[in-house]
Amino acid sequence: MNIFKFGGASVNSAEGVRNFVKIVQLYKEETIIVLSAMGKTTNALEEITNDFFAKKKDYEAKFRAVKSYHYDIVNDLFPIKDNAIYEKLEKLFHQLYAYLEKEPSLDYDFDYDQIVSFGEMLSTTIVSEFLRASGSPNKWIDIRTCLKTDDTYREGKVDWELSQKLVPQTFSFNNTFVYVTQGFLGGTTTNLTTTLGREGSDYTAAILSYLLDVDKLSIWKDVPGIMNADPKWLDDAEKLERISYQEAIELAFYGAKVIHPKTIQPIKRKKIPLQVRSFIDYSETGTLISTASKKLETQLPVYIRKDNQVLISIRPTDFSFILEENLSQLFSLFAKHRVKVNLTQNSAISFSVCVDNEEKRLNSLLGDIGDLYEVKYNDGVELITIRHHNDEAVERMTKGRDILLEQRSRDTAQFVIV
Ligand code: ASP
Ligand code: MG
Repeated sequence: MNIFKFGGASVNSAEGVRNFVKIVQLYKEETIIVLSAMGKTTNALEEITNDFFAKKKDYEAKFRAVKSYHYDIVNDLFPIKDNAIYEKLEKLFHQLYAYLEKEPSLDYDFDYDQIVSFGEMLSTTIVSEFLRASGSPNKWIDIRTCLKTDDTYREGKVDWELSQKLVPQTFSFNNTFVYVTQGFLGGTTTNLTTTLGREGSDYTAAILSYLLDVDKLSIWKDVPGIMNADPKWLDDAEKLERISYQEAIELAFYGAKVIHPKTIQPIKRKKIPLQVRSFIDYSETGTLISTASKKLETQLPVYIRKDNQVLISIRPTDFSFILEENLSQLFSLFAKHRVKVNLTQNSAISFSVCVDNEEKRLNSLLGDIGDLYEVKYNDGVELITIRHHNDEAVERMTKGRDILLEQRSRDTAQFVIV
């Protein structure tokens, strides 16, 4: 049994959907397809949610744009106008519009999930019908009925016990060879829609892989696999043939945007191999993530860049020691204001931390840090991480730049630079 996850970029046009069908039809095994919303639909629905919640009527035009984007694709794919897809699509847009006509609730995150989830409902409905029309019978599953979460909207926590009961019942492969379902979505026990966090479809595919004990998970992307740098940044970026689960978690943690960071945990627990591969060059094998095998793993330096960072240096005004008296208080303030810490370093009486430049959160954090500490602030800096660093790699990243802070361990070197 295979699980295939296709992201929004793979089905962002009629041509993309046809390419997707070609790939699926190459496989003769039982398959579950986990799909994201088409193209940039989630972003568009996010904007609609913001307008709706702020009671601005601007969402009307944005709603029409989302609608015509999907209809353009469907009109191209289904020239015969009495296909069932047209009625299904009309129904989904009708439901969405009816939601937007109501008053917003008092909970933004709740409304967000109810609205944004339409992206995946639309994409899976279209793709399932088009697969069928192309000679591949399949069953469309509403994932919200079996992947159960709590009611933390926009970041649903999976109810593993309940999902472990429901998911295998739902994907039973009795008389069905191919299933199509939504990534990113979950459902509460009272059948309200939740989402798992942005870019969460990879995570959905990993959850299903775990619950169904599959042989292999494949994530199809618009890049050849996991590269040793973002190819848009370094044009000599190379593909990594094979990496361990641990290396994949480290890369995701340092900010490599290859797979959602939560994806690896469930598949590592059951040792399910993950193949990250290209939907463009679909005969290429991509990158294999599996149990460690030092011999087979690449030791190429891997470069990860985070820009728009802020380096904050904090010193207690009473000159007390950072480690003994202040660190836990500081960390709980960072957590309270949800400021994500990317790198820390301390001396006896000072603490430096590199964080994402999220102005609102930072301001409220600095307000709380207040008079107890003297704070220095450097914005517009970059955080460069090199895994498997060597002198040449370090020279390449730092030559001619000002290094504000550096840290090296055996496997990882990090530089905050301007
Ligand atoms: N469509 C969702 C998003 O764009 C989930 C995903 O693509 O993984 O965040
Ligand atoms: Mg997406």
